[in-house]
Amino acid sequence: MIVVMKRNASAEDIDHIVKNIEELGLKAVTIQGTERIVVAAVGEERVAGINSLESSPGVDEVLPILAPYKLASLELKPEPSTVHAGSLTVGNGQIGVIAGPCSVESEDQLMETAHAVKKSGASALRGGAFKPRTSPYSFQGLKEEGLKLLAEAREQTGLAIVTEVVSPDDVELVAEYADVMQIGARNMQNYRLLEAVGRCPRPALLKRGPSATVDEWLLAAEYILDGGNENVMLCERGIRTYEAHTRFTLPLASVPYVKAKTHLPIVIDPSHGTGHTYMVPALARAAIAAGADGLIVEVHRNPDKALSDGYQSMTHEQFEEMMGKCRRIAGAVDRSLGSEG
Ligand code: PEP
Ligand code: MN
Repeated sequence: MIVVMKRNASAEDIDHIVKNIEELGLKAVTIQGTERIVVAAVGEERVAGINSLESSPGVDEVLPILAPYKLASLELKPEPSTVHAGSLTVGNGQIGVIAGPCSVESEDQLMETAHAVKKSGASALRGGAFKPRTSPYSFQGLKEEGLKLLAEAREQTGLAIVTEVVSPDDVELVAEYADVMQIGARNMQNYRLLEAVGRCPRPALLKRGPSATVDEWLLAAEYILDGGNENVMLCERGIRTYEAHTRFTLPLASVPYVKAKTHLPIVIDPSHGTGHTYMVPALARAAIAAGADGLIVEVHRNPDKALSDGYQSMTHEQFEEMMGKCRRIAGAVDRSLGSEG
């Protein structure tokens, strides 16, 4: 339920509502909107007594939150959220561009790409140190050594670091080095991991599971928000369909849908979403035109030598060219792209 306060509600009125909500066994979340304050009562909706809060001082009305997710919903927070993490801003007219290799492979590989994407206007560096691979025989990542290299790349370029965490046990370690905790598609419904990232002070990038509905994805985001982490970005990276001409099917309709239902910013991953380098720039441009708040793309100095996902990675030159074109699309929809903002 949402308790909408009157414009002239006092601090005591708000405290009174928060206390009453907590006494009903629900969690009270106070949200300061541009117009007025609402207090959300999060938890079981059908608690007896919640409706009588409408007669408390300073209360305008008590409304149900119809969406299954609560903290993520636009009903609770009508203004879009913006996520900041060091050099990266996602939302509020700024399209954050997260670029870099699929995996951190070596010091010189990472530094070369970090400097190249920075020069082309990327706002953050991506790179997996812990890799969730489909096959146990594939390269599993450099782990903590990879995290140290990412921190060194941030030192050298000033770019924020986006890297994946695959296990709740690693959350603390990854958070020591990363600016953004990426939760991969394969882990979207790893609820213990979502809870651990919910307790973590770093923003989260939550990828959509390849077989998850949008509602399941938003409920996964709700776990992180419910843990107290307000800085959640959604990432559409494509879903499994019967189609075989792309690695996954990238539904750009997720952008307007998510924006109609939630305040969370949405980032598009056209690299995993297509699985083919030549398709990435077209889908990146389309994502910006559709209203996405960010892009995450794979870039490698030598894609045919990459230890993972080389077939969908751009060269430094291809990334530079893509950025030029994306910047023009961003300008056409009154947004700024990457570090130009
Ligand atoms: C990745 O970003 O390299 C990755 C493993 O992505 P996803 O979780 O979307 O498959
Ligand atoms: Mn990858």
